[in-house]
Amino acid sequence: MNLLIYGPPGSGKGTQAELLHQSFDIPHIATGDILRGEVAAGTPLGLQAQPIMAAGGYVPDDIMIGIIRNRLQQGDSQKGFVMDGFPRTIPQAEALDGLLDELGRRFDRVVYLNVDIAELVPRLAGRMTCPIDQKTYPPGTAKCPLDGAKLIQREDDKPEAVKKRIEVYLDKTLPLLDYYRGPCSTTTGAGAWFPRSTAWAQSRRSTNAC
Ligand code: ADP
Repeated sequence: MNLLIYGPPGSGKGTQAELLHQSFDIPHIATGDILRGEVAAGTPLGLQAQPIMAAGGYVPDDIMIGIIRNRLQQGDSQKGFVMDGFPRTIPQAEALDGLLDELGRRFDRVVYLNVDIAELVPRLAGRMTCPIDQKTYPPGTAKCPLDGAKLIQREDDKPEAVKKRIEVYLDKTLPLLDYYRGPCSTTTGAGAWFPRSTAWAQSRRSTNAC
């Protein structure tokens, strides 16, 4: 089962992808998490990506395509994957099609999380993140319910970066809606903070139908 989940920042991609990962026992490939891992480890890639991410911009396509090429070659993705955060641009989507072709794979389902742009700013600007597992929680949550760590605000969840992330999303990522239009694509209602969300139920159901 190869799944793609995409949508604006703050739409709940990570939450939904995590549920699909558990439900289908396939790896959750999240480019944001991979990049944050590189930043935390202080690798050359992390050093290059850190200021771009903090400002809410996109890391260059060639770097991102290289990351995904490596990730798809790892053994665990042979049984399938749920991809979150990639592709984010048309060139990334075209490169991914080429990579999937080389591997003889294709997406079984492409799920778009549709959330009103007006709803994104308060969601992102207030959300709190666990520094250990990177999971996000609603505004006002103090501690990670899973490991008790004190939650932090991500650098790119600060107001200026949030504004930039939404602008870049509208310019570079929204065109993917047309790119992926087709019988295996589906659009859900609002993403949500919690596992019981209808978005998850819809994306789960849709995987049976294509
Ligand atoms: P969100 O979807 O909430 O913005 P992510 O965790 O997916 O958060 O990504 C965080 C940041 O990592 C992005 O704002 C961007 O700077 C960088 N990033 C992640 N994936 C990509 C990608 N495919 N192309 C370019 N930049 C990316």
